[in-house]
Amino acid sequence: MEFDPKAYRGKTAGVLGLGKSGLACARLLAKKGFRVLGSDRRPSRELKALLPRLPAKVKWEAAGHSERLLKCGFIVKSPGLAPSLPIFARLAAASVPVFSELEVALSYSKARGIAAVTGTNGKTTTTALLGEILRRGLPRGRALICGNIGTPISDAAPLAKTSDWLVVEASSYQLEDSQSFHPRAAAILNLTADHLDHHGSMERYIAAKARIFARQTAGDVCVFNADDPLVLKLARQCPAQRLFFGQKGAHVHAWREAGKIRLKLPGSRKETLLPAPRLVGEHNLQNAMAAALMAASVGIKARDIAAALKAFEPVEHRIEEAGTFHGLRCINDSKATNVDSTMVALKALGGAPNRILLILGGLHKGSPYTPLRSFVERGVKGILTIGSAARKIEEDLGQIKPVFPCGDLKTAVETAFKIGSKGDILLLSPACASFDQFQDFEDRGRQFKRLVKACR
Ligand code: ADP
Repeated sequence: MEFDPKAYRGKTAGVLGLGKSGLACARLLAKKGFRVLGSDRRPSRELKALLPRLPAKVKWEAAGHSERLLKCGFIVKSPGLAPSLPIFARLAAASVPVFSELEVALSYSKARGIAAVTGTNGKTTTTALLGEILRRGLPRGRALICGNIGTPISDAAPLAKTSDWLVVEASSYQLEDSQSFHPRAAAILNLTADHLDHHGSMERYIAAKARIFARQTAGDVCVFNADDPLVLKLARQCPAQRLFFGQKGAHVHAWREAGKIRLKLPGSRKETLLPAPRLVGEHNLQNAMAAALMAASVGIKARDIAAALKAFEPVEHRIEEAGTFHGLRCINDSKATNVDSTMVALKALGGAPNRILLILGGLHKGSPYTPLRSFVERGVKGILTIGSAARKIEEDLGQIKPVFPCGDLKTAVETAFKIGSKGDILLLSPACASFDQFQDFEDRGRQFKRLVKACR
């Protein structure tokens, strides 16, 4: 069901979850004249800190979701709230409609089109890159980048004018509750197991991702990774025009050619050669192919795509060059919060044998580190462990390469400068969550950059 603001005029909106997007949606609905009741499971002393970010007329409740929500005209569900929460069964029994933040926000958008990116990894990079391409290439109007990438959709969507595009990074959480989401151009980059604690199974996780194209029609476009078997299988269900990137082949519309990107859209005989972006790693070439196909499919000229690819800088904390100090090339990949991401970084940087000093660790997420073994064997010189995952890392990888238990990031950086030699790479790609020692992965990445500079 689509969210139609007119149908709920004069009613109270219940906003479940007062995280970044819930708060933004509460602000938006209050501005649009709704009475708003925010509801969060956190205790009131924590929520009070958020109050300056809410208009005074928004009411709120803390420490759980009460019966008051059942009296609301409709509910906005923040991304990531478990559908199994008892309140949802009670809302369903009381026939109170529940909408996702994405749907509510987009009902206030006048944007000419939506371009949306999903996948397990690479969403932020691809969304940022696509935003950069559209910014350069749109003849009129702006590209407003929003979603998981940072700016809540509730903040960006109402600003969109009829000549603007919304470029949305869509997570599985945002997609799972969105019945009416209809992007003009979409992409599914890859699918590997993630967030299964929330979705319950791989099938349900994939079904959530598939909502990105569920409302598309033949006039729309969806881009798929032809080298990912799960993505390829999912593409069969897609009602839009399908475009593929991957290894060169009969049905592929973007592929790698001599380190560059070759594009050939269906129905066109013309092939275009685009430069690779200045980003490290094969995975970023995939992200660039996806962004280029999406942009080309909405009419952006090759010249503008090429210029954006050349100018694009890596997004902070994603294999970001932090500088070379005392001959050590320092790289901040703090966003690698799982083993898969660290593997991608080692693949991208591990060309030369035994040159990487790898900082691993943080809050253990439950997966073994053994999938890193072959990459560690080839590219890594030594492992510097931090945080509470250190023992498990040593158990899984200690037989292969020397492990230096450092405890914290400062000691790890200092140790790296002691044992490293000219030409080595100091890589922070921890494969763990950051919350045991840092506010979040951004805080961890920024501290790393400060520490390596201080070792000058
Ligand atoms: P997301 O927003 O989906 O988390 P990011 O663009 O922030 O993705 O990248 C996060 C990490 O995921 C990167 O540091 C890199 O290790 C890995 N990654 C990025 N792009 C890809 C890709 N296309 N395939 C596999 N892994 C990727």
